[in-house]
Parts: sequence; structure tokens; C-alpha cells
Amino acid sequence: MSTTEAPTLRGGAWLIEDAPAESVTTPETLSDEHQLIGQTADEFMTAEVVPIIDRLEQKDWALVKSLLKRAGDLGLLGTDVPEALGGVELDKAASIVVGEAIGRSASFAATFGAQTGLSVTPLLCFGTDEQQQRYIPELVNGTLVGAYALSESGSGSDALGAKTRAVRQPDGSYRLSGEKMWITNGGFADLFIVFAKVDGEQFTAFIVERDFPGVSTGKEEHKMGLHGSSTTPLILQDAHVPALNVLGEVGKGHKVAFNVLNYGRLKLAAMCSGGARAVVGEAATYALQRRQFGQPIATFGAIRHKLAEMAIREYAVESMLYRTAGLIDGMLQGSHAGAAVLAALEEFAVEASMLKVSASEMLDFVLDENVQIHGGNGFVKDYPAERHYRDARVNRIFEGTNEINRLLVPGMLARRAVKGTLPLIPAARKLQDEILTPGLVESPGDGPLAAQRHAVTAMKKTALMVLGTAMQTYREALADQQEVLSGAADILIDVYAAESVVLRAAAAKQSSHAALHEDTAAVFVNDAAGRVEIAARNAIAAMTEGDTLRTLLAALKRVLKVTPVNAVAIRRRVADAVVQKKGYPYG
Ligand SMILES: Cc1cc2nc3c(=O)[nH]c(=O)nc-3n(C[C@H](O)[C@H](O)[C@H](O)COP(=O)(O)OP(=O)(O)OC[C@H]3O[C@@H](n4cnc5c(N)ncnc54)[C@H](O)[C@@H]3O)c2cc1C
Repeated sequence: MSTTEAPTLRGGAWLIEDAPAESVTTPETLSDEHQLIGQTADEFMTAEVVPIIDRLEQKDWALVKSLLKRAGDLGLLGTDVPEALGGVELDKAASIVVGEAIGRSASFAATFGAQTGLSVTPLLCFGTDEQQQRYIPELVNGTLVGAYALSESGSGSDALGAKTRAVRQPDGSYRLSGEKMWITNGGFADLFIVFAKVDGEQFTAFIVERDFPGVSTGKEEHKMGLHGSSTTPLILQDAHVPALNVLGEVGKGHKVAFNVLNYGRLKLAAMCSGGARAVVGEAATYALQRRQFGQPIATFGAIRHKLAEMAIREYAVESMLYRTAGLIDGMLQGSHAGAAVLAALEEFAVEASMLKVSASEMLDFVLDENVQIHGGNGFVKDYPAERHYRDARVNRIFEGTNEINRLLVPGMLARRAVKGTLPLIPAARKLQDEILTPGLVESPGDGPLAAQRHAVTAMKKTALMVLGTAMQTYREALADQQEVLSGAADILIDVYAAESVVLRAAAAKQSSHAALHEDTAAVFVNDAAGRVEIAARNAIAAMTEGDTLRTLLAALKRVLKVTPVNAVAIRRRVADAVVQKKGYPYG
């Protein structure tokens, strides 16, 4: 692994390079500007959204619209939108800060995400000047509500299999026919980003206003959760759409659809992160007040283990999230031009998919443990634990299911390797020579976090070994090996998470919470190395046999030599911090 002065601003480069801690964006390095917009969003949620969640769940869409308008007035809908289009023109890290605050209400977060991530982003990246001027300022101030209509009953994951058709008219306009499903904000949106096939073939994005002839929405879906978010079909019956409302190029709708989802995934991860942070507080507060056997349940080791693990897993997601936002901002260098934003989002699509998977699964873990800590009270509606649990389940389904996102992670890296835009193949060859040399064991070195850095390097080598072997073994047929690809994705996610955690802890070494950061990094890396080892063994055993299998397993054993830490003692210390703070303890 080569060490560079600053991280290469290329998606996936972390797999073959080491980044210095000073180069990484973390929650601790956020500017006053970030803190300020975060505080605004937090106060808005505390004062205006969280207290009325029950009313939102009665599907009072006028109330939801008024909250969106209020968020617009506060600048929260246009955090990273240029000032010329009514936005606040901050960076992506600022959007993540805002997204985390909004994540405290899952229903409002869905409404908010459909407005900012899924409606404003496509217009910003693909809209003409005229389209941007016409729609973005009013979306950003909350006067207009947007929605994103890609899915259909027969095509969710296979979005390009959409049946909605657009027929070109002699005057250049289009007639759209078809039905879109599960559209967030469907019940009250004023405009929809709709995907349809021109003449049944060319997949294309359109801006469709609710008032266009032939546009209507269906009944609200009866959902497991997110009862305060509108989800309806969008019905297009020969809907008349002017030629000027084609978004991007005819036949290039896939570019709009997938790039928008890249940003959507990042924002979804931010909302999951914020939701988890708030729930660590709910769980700790409940555990302190609930007494069994004459003492608060927060004194029991089994409960403390849960509280610590909830905080540790959220810490890992938060670390990846801000690191990724920092990489994107580093590439953008303050630019808000649509083309630059598009290129940056595409560059870090792998990281966005990793974050979507890890944040949604981390949140489900946290919310499940929260129900468990609440016991019977976790299963009844008197406490918010059961609502959180139901609301979060969809995060693993929308914005690309976690299965699809897992497949994308190694798939995109392998494509970049083959194209030569990411030098994974030479790195894998060099590694092959290195790891097949018996007796080569690097020393972990001294000092705090040295062992963790060493473990991260070992995990990177392991990831490269698995990905390299998969590419060599299956070549063009790699995409058919979903089990191996999904396992590789889990390894890659753990590698990125572990490195992000270690870099953050190293960057926080002067802070008053330095010891807590170090503890968290130590236990996270310890567990991640264990998971990576199992996943790598399974993948290698699936891909190779005989001598090759034996050689690779021996190499894995040599490479991934990680000394275990006393995870019980460390988690006890993390739990102490959670209980003392009655919440997420790092800030
Ligand atoms: C509350 C809610 C809000 C939503 N909001 C929107 C919205 O605003 N706009 C919008 O366009 N859509 C929206 N959706 C739709 C959502 O994006 C889709 O449900 C999602 O993409 C999955 O598609 P599907 O439901 O058709 O599942 P399917 O694609 O049928 O998938 C079913 C299962 O098969 C797996 N699977 C599918 N294909 C593959 C494959 N190639 N390899 C391996 N496994 C595979 C999936 O991972 C999943 O586990 C929303 C959905 C919900 C529930």
C-alpha cells in the first residue's frame, strides 16, 4: 500500500492507498457554518416536527406541506443548491449534517428526501437553465413539492424494464401512458420526475406537472410504517408533456435515474445515521429509568453491551459518511455546477452504495436492540420504539434494495479495474507476489491505534485478494456469481468502515473524548477483522479448490493475523459513556 499526502480523489482509491488522518473529514472537523445549519435543522425538528409526529401519521398532508415550506424558509431544502437558484450554496457535508437532523422523524425524512435528493438533484444535474429557473427556486423554498417516479408494479429493481411509454407528437410534445408505483409524496406533489420509454424503447426522464392533462394519483398505500409519508401510484393516461419538459437527453434516462440515486443513497445514509443517534439516547434514557431486580436495567452487562454496540455501529457509519462527503467536496472544490456535481456523485457511487447498505442495516440493528431494551414496552404503541422499528424496514428496500447495492459495490470496482481507471489489477498482482511468499509477516508497530492501522492494512489485502481472485476466476461471468459478489461487498464495506473509524479516532487524538474514540476504533476493527476473515474464507472456498485453495487459505492466515482485544472491557467503557451522557457519547 502506498502512502499519499492526501487521499486520491477517486472512488475506491482507499482500497489501495492509505490516507493520512488529517486529510479526512469527520464530525469533529466540521466548520462553524456546518454546526450552524445543523443546529437550525435540529431546532426545527425538535420544535416543529417531532412533537407532531402523531398528527403527521393521520395523513394530514396540508400539515406536511406546511412543514416543507417551513424547512424551505429555513434554507434546509436547498443546503447545497446554488444561491442563484434560491439555495444556501453550502457543501455536501452540510447536506449530510441536515440529513442527520431530519432523520429523527423517518416519515418526514422520506418526504424531505423525495423533495431534495430525488427532485432537486435531477433538475440541478440535468435541467436546462430554463427548467432550473422554472422549478428549482420553488422546490427549494417549499412552495412546490416534488416526487420521483421510477418504479412500476412490474419493474422495481429492474427499473429499465419500465413499461410506461412516451409517444412523440408531431409538434414535438409527448403523450405518456402507464402507471408508476410506490411514489413518495405522490398524494400531494406538484411535479414528478417521470421515467418513460420514448416509442417503447428510449428510456427518458420527463418533468411532469400534476396539472398536465391526463395526470392523476391513486389511493394511499397501506404500509407497514412511514404512516406520515404519502405513497401512491402515479397514473398517466395519455398525459400531455411539452417537449421542453424532457429532462436530459432522450434515451439517456438511465443517467438521470441512477446518478440521482447515488446522491439519494448518501442522503438516506445520513438520515439513518441521525435516526440511530437519537435512538441511542432513547434506549439509554429508558435503561436508566427502568428498574428490575431492584436496579436500573442499565446496570446489567447484557444491556450495557447492547448500548455500547449501538453506539459503536453508528460511529462507524457516521465516520464513513463524513469521510465520503469530504471526498466529494474535495473533488467539487466549491463548485455547484450540475456537471461537476454529477461527475463527483458518479465517482463516489461505490461509497454511496456501501453507505446505503451499512447505514440501513446498522439502523435496523439499533432499532431492534432498542425494542429489546424496552422489553414489552418496546412492542406496544405507547413508546416510540415500535414505530421506529416499523418505519426503518423500508430503508433496505428503496433507493435500490440492499441486494442490488451489494452487487453494485464489487461490480463497479471490477469495471473500473478492467477499464484501468482504478489500478486494482496491478495492485492485486503485486499483492499476489507478496502474500505467496511464506514467512512474510509485517509488525504492527507501536503507539495508539498502530494495531488497528495494521489490521486495516491486512483487511485491505484480504479484500484485494478476494476481488482479484473473483475477477481472475470468473472474468466476464463475474456478474453471475452473486453470492461471491455479495460476500465481497461485505468485506469491502467492513474495510472502508474500519479504516474510516481508525482515521477518525486518530484525528480526534487531541479531543477530550480521545480515549473513547480509540476504544471504539479498537473494538470495531477487532470485530470487522473477524467478519472479514469468515467472509474471505467462504469466498475463497467457493472460487478455488485443491492446491490453489490451500495456498490462498494459508496466505489469508498469514495476512490477516490480528491480535484480539478485550472487547468486553472496552464495550463496558463505551457503555459507561453512553449511560453517563444518556445518549450518543462522542460529541
Ligand atoms: C415506502 C416506499 C416508498 C417508495 N418510494 C419510491 C419513490 O418515491 N419512487 C420510486 O420510483 N420508487 C419508490 N419505491 C419503490 C422502491 O424503490 C422499490 O420497491 C424497490 O426498488 C424494489 O423494487 P420491487 O419492490 O419491485 O422489488 P423487486 O425488484 O421485485 O425485488 C424483490 C427482491 O428480489 C431481489 N432482487 C431483484 N432483482 C435482483 C437481482 N438482479 N439480483 C438479486 N436479487 C434481486 C431484491 O433485492 C428484493 O429482495 C418506494 C417503495 C416503498 C415501499
